[in-house]
Amino acid sequence: MKILVPIKRVVDFNIKVRVKPDGSGVDLDNVKMAINPFDEIAMEEAVRLKENGKATEVVAVSCGSALSQETLRTALALGADRAILVESSEELQPLAVAKLLKALVDKEQPDLVILGKQAIDDDCNQTGQMLAALLDRPQGTYASKLDFEEQHVVVTREVDGGLETVRLALPAIVTADLRLNEPRYVTLPNIMKAKKKPLEVKNPAELQVDVSPRLQTLKVSEPPVRAAGVKVPDVATLVAKLKHEAKVI
Ligand code: AMP
Repeated sequence: MKILVPIKRVVDFNIKVRVKPDGSGVDLDNVKMAINPFDEIAMEEAVRLKENGKATEVVAVSCGSALSQETLRTALALGADRAILVESSEELQPLAVAKLLKALVDKEQPDLVILGKQAIDDDCNQTGQMLAALLDRPQGTYASKLDFEEQHVVVTREVDGGLETVRLALPAIVTADLRLNEPRYVTLPNIMKAKKKPLEVKNPAELQVDVSPRLQTLKVSEPPVRAAGVKVPDVATLVAKLKHEAKVI
């Protein structure tokens, strides 16, 4: 089984993002970037499947600027066998990424694509679903467990108020949720080994994909500043405040 894992380069989750003064987007100058956390989980799952003999090859793919090569090297250090960068300096929205991934799936013919459930920068949660639709393949989103049967993958999904289990015929598309696994740390020897693994660079024109944006961002703004708390002198005042002032938000 061949697995394709799409990886997005995003602002590191520990960083507090700053909005540009003109409200046109997020300031990325000198900001620490990292692999999208859900994509790290997707990659860990693919690598575990290779380690336990279910997968034969794991291919990491990223669409974005040349800087995404660094993110792909991390994916290779986590255990991917090879990587593909679709290089573009344009802003790539989920539909454009899904079309690029479809072009790569047509070429690579993976049995399984494991994406993250969402990218933590734009929180779109669209790419996996769009890819499944474009390919007309079954999808299992928000996966917290994967089991394999002859030509099928059984996906346990995290849904509101419980778990849902679906059985998908392979080839299929899965998106990884937080509880699917706990990704390993990248080790120095594996970082060194990753430098020698193949990383192919392509561009949208080669894949015959029009990546022009379909949505226009009108404004990005900081969340409202939280009002300061107050200290109450005693329990009676606290209870009175809870009764008369507290609101359910
Ligand atoms: P989104 O729909 O933007 O929330 O992204 C969902 C998932 O799609 C991510 O977790 C990645 O697995 C994949 N993805 C999104 N954007 C890219 C990208 N530029 N390159 C590679 N994979 C991506």
